Amino acid sequence: MYPASLEKLIQCFRTLPGVGEKTAERYALLISESDPEDVRQFAEALINVKEKLHHCSVCGNLSEGERCSICSDASRNHRQIFVVQSARDVSAMERTNEYRGVYHVLNGLICPSKGVMPEDLNIEKLTERAAQADEIIIATNATLDGETTAMYLDRLLKQKCPDVLVTRIAHGLPAGGMLDYADEMTLSHALSDRRKMR
Ligand SMILES: [Zn+2]
Repeated sequence: MYPASLEKLIQCFRTLPGVGEKTAERYALLISESDPEDVRQFAEALINVKEKLHHCSVCGNLSEGERCSICSDASRNHRQIFVVQSARDVSAMERTNEYRGVYHVLNGLICPSKGVMPEDLNIEKLTERAAQADEIIIATNATLDGETTAMYLDRLLKQKCPDVLVTRIAHGLPAGGMLDYADEMTLSHALSDRRKMR
């Protein structure tokens, strides 16, 4: 049994995925022996990430300002919208340096068995943005939930904005492939080989 403050830190590390009792104990002891300034910066980073970050009011991406850096960038094509599940997918796509449009982050996928319905996701704002767009590229993962969501969005957009072109990225990724695990070359091809839906 350790002093209460150390036990508390061990319990905090235990809440992280993949961190067991032994690892949590090792991390907590390491912190207790670290330089006080390093520890202060670590603690500050934890607080800041919660206090400063929120969702961009336009696209739903993570941002410190009201609008994210991509939505604020006038040199990008704001009439082409790449729709993804999470901020991780935006980050993966940006690493390719291939895409010059903007994004829309759903912050999840439709999954009725887990109780996630369209109204729980950032979908309504997408239909508003689509009215001023030329192309909506649906880039949800090639999983069951990803395909369900893509089909739902395609139907919804055809109904609400019949003039907008709706495309789906090519999944040269294996079936069940996750966007954020794909390498840059695969992602570039997935974008250039996209197809019109239906
Ligand atoms: Zn944004």
